[in-house]
Order: sequence, then structure tokens, then C-alpha cells
Amino acid sequence: MRFTVGGGVEWDDFIRETTKIGCTGVECLAGIPGTVGAAPVQNIGAYGQEAKDSITKIFAIDFETGAKIELKKDECDFSYRHSIFNSSARERYFIYKVEFVLRKGQIESELYGSLESYLNSKQIESRDPETLANAVRAVRDSKLPDPKDFASSGSFFKNIYVDESEVKSLDERGIPHHGTKVNTGWLIENVGLKGKDFYGFKISEKASLVLINESGKSYADLEKAISEISKIVEEKFGFKLEQEPNVIEG
Ligand SMILES: Cc1cc2nc3c(=O)[nH]c(=O)nc-3n(C[C@H](O)[C@H](O)[C@H](O)COP(=O)(O)OP(=O)(O)OC[C@H]3O[C@@H](n4cnc5c(N)ncnc54)[C@H](O)[C@@H]3O)c2cc1C
Repeated sequence: MRFTVGGGVEWDDFIRETTKIGCTGVECLAGIPGTVGAAPVQNIGAYGQEAKDSITKIFAIDFETGAKIELKKDECDFSYRHSIFNSSARERYFIYKVEFVLRKGQIESELYGSLESYLNSKQIESRDPETLANAVRAVRDSKLPDPKDFASSGSFFKNIYVDESEVKSLDERGIPHHGTKVNTGWLIENVGLKGKDFYGFKISEKASLVLINESGKSYADLEKAISEISKIVEEKFGFKLEQEPNVIEG
């Protein structure tokens, strides 16, 4: 089924409406805060799904020409937390509508372990999109600090991806991973940084990729925090941390 959704629509409302009628494709992205128009920018993703898997077209206003344009999915250079909208064409387009194609039915890929465990622990057998979306929201609530209580931008650090050829060495080094995706929260935890404060920015006790602003006062302090955290992780594991949120220059 084809859905053309206004950029200002709340992302999770879109999920609620489509899962209610049995559409699969975005149910694992339930509970991600933000709008539909922002979703393609970093190609939001969670629990094995990404916005790009269902996006077919972007409708945007080009700030350079003032014209309304349409971009096909393959013109957007989507990959993990990446698109032209946060790289080569950063701040060039205003996305006012997004087209998605979803399928009626159930997810075919294997579920993430934490999601499967949650469903099993609640003795929920159904894997229909609405059930999964609700399970994702419940797992997220239990694992992520609530932004209403703790100021954060969600995951501050991206998960690191390695080449296929490096996967064996991850196993040898005992580093948890999901295919080529390194469990980067584990790296941060393993160097003993969970709950640690850097210049007022604390690594969440619940999810190590999340930085909580407890008393940080300036961007300079945030930069110092990022640099120290990254250095500690790189010294132990040899991986460079990468920041997920865009920096908006004022
Ligand atoms: C608690 C928490 C959990 C999160 N979990 C996840 C997660 O699981 N997975 C994930 O991928 N992200 C996650 N995020 C990040 C965030 O939800 C996404 O980046 C989301 O898309 C942001 O939406 P927004 O409307 O708030 O956009 P903003 O944060 O306001 O903007 C994000 C960027 O997109 C640009 N932008 C926004 N709207 C448009 C538009 N219409 N056209 C062009 N550019 C635009 C902005 O200029 C900015 O550069 C999380 C954030 C929080 C706070």
C-alpha cells in the first residue's frame, strides 16, 4: 500500500495508523520521537528496520531554487543514519511530504533479541505489526531514558559498522555485534563509562549511547565531553566513535 504523508505528521502517529490496518515495514520504528519530514534526514532506524526500507519518494522544496522537487529513493543515498539530507545536501531541502510503500502482513526478518525476549516473557505469540509496534514502545520505555525527564537527543553516538572481513576478529575479541554492526553501547560500558559525568554530560545508566545533559552549559563543554569519551573508547578498542545528531550552526 502506498502512503503519502505530510512532513509535519508525528512519526509515531503514522506508525499507529498504518499498524492498525495491518501494514508491516515501519512497526519496529515505533516510539521514535519526531516528525515524518525529519525521518529521512538521518534515515531513522531501530530494531532492524530503517525508514529507507519503506520510503519510495521525497517531496521537497529546494532552498537553492525555491522549486518543489521530487526525489526518488535512490537519489537520496540512504545508509545507516545517513542520507544526502545530512551530508552532501545538508540544509538544502525542506521535506514537506514523504511517500512510503508498506505491505499488508507480518515482518519476515528475524526479530531483535530484546524484542523477541520481551514478547516471550509476556507470552505474546502474535507478531502482527500492531503487536510489534506496541512491544517496541514498551522495550524502548524500559531501555531508554525518558526525554521528558532527562534532556537528551536519544543516542548521541552511532553504532559502528565494520567490514565483513572484520567480523571474525570481533568474535575473537569477545565484542558483541549484530552482523557487521558493533554493539557500540557495550564498548562504552566496557571501558567503565556508564553513568559517568563529563562536564555536565552524563552517559546514561540505561543506554550507554545516550548522553544526558544534567548540567552542561556550553557547546564547548559538550565538545570536551565527546573528545574524552571517544579517546577512552579508541584507546581500548581502536574504534572511533561518531556523533549521531546534526550540529545546527546558529
Ligand atoms: C529519546 C530519543 C530516542 C531516539 N531514538 C531514535 C532511534 O531509535 N532511532 C533514530 O534513528 N533516531 C532516534 N532519535 C533521534 C530523533 O528521534 C530523530 O532524529 C528524528 O527524526 C528527529 O525528528 P525531529 O522532528 O525532532 O527533527 P529535529 O531533531 O528537529 O531535526 C533533525 C534534523 O533534521 C532536519 N529536519 C527536520 N525536519 C526536516 C524537514 N521537514 N525537512 C528537512 N530537514 C528537516 C533538521 O534541520 C535537523 O538537521 C531519538 C531521539 C530521542 C530524543
